Amino acid sequence: MPTVSIHAVDHPLVAHKLTVLRDERTDTPTFRALADELVTLLAYEATRNAQVEPVTVITPVAEAQGVTFTGPRHLVVPVLRAGLGMLDGMVRLLPTAEVGFLGMVRNEDTLQASTYATRLPEDLSGRQCYLLDPMLATGGTLIAAIRLLADRGAASVTAVCLLAAPEGIAAVSEALTDLAVPVTIVTAAIDERLNEHGYIVPGLGDAGDRLYGTVSA
Ligand code: URA
Repeated sequence: MPTVSIHAVDHPLVAHKLTVLRDERTDTPTFRALADELVTLLAYEATRNAQVEPVTVITPVAEAQGVTFTGPRHLVVPVLRAGLGMLDGMVRLLPTAEVGFLGMVRNEDTLQASTYATRLPEDLSGRQCYLLDPMLATGGTLIAAIRLLADRGAASVTAVCLLAAPEGIAAVSEALTDLAVPVTIVTAAIDERLNEHGYIVPGLGDAGDRLYGTVSA
């Protein structure tokens, strides 16, 4: 049974904002603001399968049947550093979510991801988790992050990515076939390919640098 489903959001607002993000002339303040707006649009799609249960409320006129989110609280996990630029856009639609943090870095020679910081509940039983990582490139970071959440008992993992490469999607799908946890990837677009440096083509460049500028370690 395939555990990973991919959803590339097809919407003119998403396509327009993504186009401006791709443009190398877009400056950092504009890039940040647009990424924030784009994530909110992606968040709308990413929460499409959020678990709800019936609830009754009293309007000023009569009783009405509605829904409320099924507990426990959603968990939003930005992958540092670039995923941090997606946090506000996501919690705007999920203000009651809890926020965890995952620090992962990609070795630019081996393209392997390693974890340098984890700030997450030990027990994620029953939790619907949303991972924020702007660029699904080789897939190494996402595979490691999804496994970590699944190992802690997450009920589902939805990764929100601005862009995805076909190679990354294939790597995530192949690496997680043994996972019992349903995984969804929501992205604004699936690009052509990766280049020899592991960058998405045409992509938008280094998402962290474009969000925050270049800072030396
Ligand atoms: N990380 C980025 O920031 N950009 C890419 O194209 C690939 C990985």
